Amino acid sequence: MMLLENLNEEFATALLEWFREKGVAYPWADSPDAWGIWVSEVMLQQTTVAAVEPRYRRWMERFPSTESLAAADEEEVLREWEGLGYYNRARNLASAAAEIHRSYGGIIPEEASELRQLPGVGEYIAAAVSSFAFSKRQAAIDANGRRIAQRLSGRESWDKELETALKNIVEELMPLENPGSLNAALMQLGQQVCIPRSPRCGECPLAGICLARSMGVQDVIPARRRKEVIPKKTRLAILFNCEKVLMWKKNKGIGRGLWVFPPENEIEGLEKYWKVMKLLPEQIHSYTRYRDVLIPRIFRRKDELGVMPSLRSEKSGFFLPGMLQELPMPTAYRRVSDDLIEFLKSDNTHYMNV
Ligand code: SF4
Repeated sequence: MMLLENLNEEFATALLEWFREKGVAYPWADSPDAWGIWVSEVMLQQTTVAAVEPRYRRWMERFPSTESLAAADEEEVLREWEGLGYYNRARNLASAAAEIHRSYGGIIPEEASELRQLPGVGEYIAAAVSSFAFSKRQAAIDANGRRIAQRLSGRESWDKELETALKNIVEELMPLENPGSLNAALMQLGQQVCIPRSPRCGECPLAGICLARSMGVQDVIPARRRKEVIPKKTRLAILFNCEKVLMWKKNKGIGRGLWVFPPENEIEGLEKYWKVMKLLPEQIHSYTRYRDVLIPRIFRRKDELGVMPSLRSEKSGFFLPGMLQELPMPTAYRRVSDDLIEFLKSDNTHYMNV
């Protein structure tokens, strides 16, 4: 039996027609160059076109070329990426930009197979860049495309064989002119109509050929995997001394290179030398499988002459509150930092120059 038999000419025609009418212009649409397309696709892995737009423009103003990113300092790159999460993607973009200068004379390669040699470039990004920027017939299949194909064919499970079949079909059906438009159409239909929960079948151009819909099982395909969430609580010590705040730079793990307020249990002699000045609102820091409730407390010295705190690990430093804006931080820590600055502004007995 042929796999995914209802993904045929009719499917491609209906999808492309829908995209011409309802597709959202990509942030790079005004000036489609490979670097802009690449950046936008990396950002789009975690959010929608509309949400990416302002962040994309800001990034491209700061790093308009691979050369500018390759020359940037890691802290600046992470600060510019702040709020987008998955900081490894920003680090990989910077490493790939450097590699393009070292090995490709500053020119982004056209072929997906070459792009895949670059740090952090997987099958999807390679195919998206090569099809959008260089009109190569490369299917870029992400979770959206996979979900649509699974529902169209009414299959509860998905495997490597189906993935390859889908890729081959999409490449065969791509229009001669602007082949990447079929990739874009699939991705956007998945973001706007065939969404993960409660797909909007009434608005779908593929409703007439969709097996899941005809069987009434579109809500249960693909089967949902329950994601285990591990709750955590972290007490943060905001040590405020001589108008400066102690910060900690993470040197390992997924937050490597980001600055955070240190956990209380990392401060030697916390109770002995410091007293609590203020409790700030709790913040939720979600990462990988964790949901970490951050409990931030501001401390000040019990006396001015005692020993300075030493951290059990990591790089640290005292910063003027005004400097915190410059440091890259995870979003939840940024909220703590904003609350801290608000508090210091409102209480000028502790700090006069925020
Ligand atoms: S008909 Fe519904 S389930 Fe089928 S592809 Fe369209 S939105 Fe998805």
